[in-house]
Amino acid sequence: MENRIKLGVSACLLGENVRYDGDHKLDCFIRDTLGEYVDFVPVCPEVECGMPVPREAMQLESNPESPRLVTIRSRKDMSKQMLDWTAARVRELESEGLCGYIFKSSSPSCGIKGVKVHNEKGMPVKKGLGLFARAFMKHFPLLPTEDENRLHDPRVRENFIESIFAIKLRNHV
Ligand code: SF4
Repeated sequence: MENRIKLGVSACLLGENVRYDGDHKLDCFIRDTLGEYVDFVPVCPEVECGMPVPREAMQLESNPESPRLVTIRSRKDMSKQMLDWTAARVRELESEGLCGYIFKSSSPSCGIKGVKVHNEKGMPVKKGLGLFARAFMKHFPLLPTEDENRLHDPRVRENFIESIFAIKLRNHV
């Protein structure tokens, strides 16, 4: 419906079996409670950029400000594949009229804060953002973004909901 709020969401949080292990990360609050009031635009960056399900697990490596996305066992650098797709996808999302986005926490593609980035010695620091999440937030700096973990906190949840309603109102003035 045209007048409902539209949110982008990591597809695995809606129960889609798109994770590297073929599983999902269904969040019932997001799908069932929030889903009564908003429409979702589900996105799985890893699948949409051409990776299979199941697939090898990946991690972020090197500089936390511009990390590489690397498969853990076979050591393939997937950064270009992800970043090329991401550049086109964020432009495509402009036409969706999104009022916000809910990302999957801790993911090397979708995490919005504290994602592990491994240095040359293999030591992780929790200072990264997922490659898609970083590009999305840079492209849409005014859109509210949260992850499913933080939304378990009632105050964060309330702020997020107020913010997405404010964006909806602003877009229709
Ligand atoms: S966290 Fe993101 S990339 Fe990973 S399965 Fe979920 S939607 Fe796909």
